[in-house]
Formats: sequence, structure tokens, C-alpha cells
Amino acid sequence: MTTRLYTHPIFLEHITPPGHPERPDRLRAIERVLDDEAFAELDRVEAPEGDEATILYAHPADFVARVRVGIPSEGIARIDADTTASPKSWQAVITAIGAANAAVDDVFAGRADNVFVAARPPGHHAEKNTAMGFCFFNTAAIAARHAQKEHGVERVAIVDWDVHHGNGTQDIFWDDPTVLYCSTHQMPLYPGTGAKSETGAGNIVNAPLAPRTGSDLFRDAFLSRVLPALDDFAPDLIIISAGFDAHHRDPLAEINLTEDDFDWATGQLMQRAARHSGNRLVSLLEGGYDLQGLAFSVAAHVGRLMKG
Ligand SMILES: [Zn+2]
Repeated sequence: MTTRLYTHPIFLEHITPPGHPERPDRLRAIERVLDDEAFAELDRVEAPEGDEATILYAHPADFVARVRVGIPSEGIARIDADTTASPKSWQAVITAIGAANAAVDDVFAGRADNVFVAARPPGHHAEKNTAMGFCFFNTAAIAARHAQKEHGVERVAIVDWDVHHGNGTQDIFWDDPTVLYCSTHQMPLYPGTGAKSETGAGNIVNAPLAPRTGSDLFRDAFLSRVLPALDDFAPDLIIISAGFDAHHRDPLAEINLTEDDFDWATGQLMQRAARHSGNRLVSLLEGGYDLQGLAFSVAAHVGRLMKG
């Protein structure tokens, strides 16, 4: 497997208030763990600058303009109850989108079998018209649309194993059967959506997990809900909204996964990518707030992407 890694120093310059869990140290922890010689074969590429016009794939222009004027020229400004912006946040957001779109281009051009994008801020809580939950714009949704518009594919699947439900991705694709959205997440938990009964146009598969459950129920949700949905849908591309906050060390939730579970889930999705989508798989960092849990989980995930 050829695995590419995109990251960029600008992602460290999206500054959040002291004590905020979504902080630059998350990416420093990932950088440190991927420095190990086990990852020497990773194809490391600096994320390209993004094309702002691609935000419109998932969000209306007036909302994009509203977010943009909320970026401060100094200090930290509040965008939503728990989403803040600093002067370099716009550039970080656009570069995260640029990296995700470039990752899609890479797997279609054969430059890589799969790609991990280590970027921040995350994106899966951003709805069509709402920035929330540390997210400005929905990077995974934009990348899925980019694949459809630029690479002529019909069906894209987004699998979201972040411990929080990706309300934004669900909102954007609610009535769009060309995109399958599958999510495992703790429920009840922020943002409150993600019940099994929320099925959109038959393209939304929610597999909520009760607090204080762990590997068994997570793997069962994958085997009984997520993987069969992927086999039925036969996507041309799989995008992972890869949050690692279902790790047992994470302070924001109560699901007890280990890095072995992320290794296993990655392998399962790679099998489906091999079966349906010519191995094409793009993984985008979402949450994960315990630095050690995040680093070990990313190491397991990327290690599996490289090994196949
Ligand atoms: Zn999360």
C-alpha cells in the first residue's frame, strides 16, 4: 500500500482559548508518534492551499461570508458556544479543505492507495448553515462532493467513527442518496442527533452506542450495520471521518475503545475499499482529545493503512 500523509504548520496556528480541548498540541502529538521509524515509508506531503470556491459544494455563500467576517484580526473571537477563531483560523480551515480535496485527487490519480489528513480544525459538526462543535466547514462533505464533481464518480461513502455524531454531515446529505453516511457514536452525547430512526433518504446509517460500552458493541455495530450498508452501496470512494475520542482515555466521552479497535476498523474499511472502490480510501482527522490516546490511535490507524 502507498499511504500519503498530509499536514501543514498552519494547522498549529488555529489558536483556541486556554483549556480548550481542540488545541494545537493534538497535532504535535500526532507528529511525534509518526516520527517513529515504523512510519519511514509514509509519503509525507505538505498540504496544498485550498480552493475557497469548493466550500460552496457543501455550504451556501452567505454562510461562508458570515463565518469569514467572524475571523478576528487579533485575539480570539467566538463563532459558536464552543467554536472560536483566531487570526490564522481561516487559512487553517482552507488548507484543511485543500488537503482533503488533494487526497481525493491522489487516490483517483493513483498517486496513493490511501491518504491520512492530519489537519485541524475538524469538520463533521458543521451543518449547511451552522458552524458548531469546534468545526467551521464540513471538510469530509466537501471532499465527497469534490470526488463527484471532479472525478465523475456516483457514490461516495463517509464512515464516521468519531465518538460524537456527525450532525453536519448528516444534515448536508440528508436527502442525497448518492452519499452514504454511516456513524458510530455515543448516545446520549453532544450534539444530540444520531438516533437509529434518522435515516434520511435511506442513505443515513446511525449506530448509537450506550455510554460505558466498548470494543464488543463497537465491532458489533460495524459488523451488523456499517459494513453491510457499505456492501449494499458499493461506493466508488470511502472517506473516514476519523475521530479518536471513543478511546477509553478521552475526557469528552465514555466509550472504551483501544487503539486495537481503530486498527481493526481500519482493516475492515480497507477490505471494503478493495472490494468496491479500487482501494481508494481517504481518512480525515476529526476529534480525539487525550494526547496519548490520540497518538496511539493514529499510530494504529496509519500503521494499518500502510500495511493493508
Ligand atoms: Zn468528537
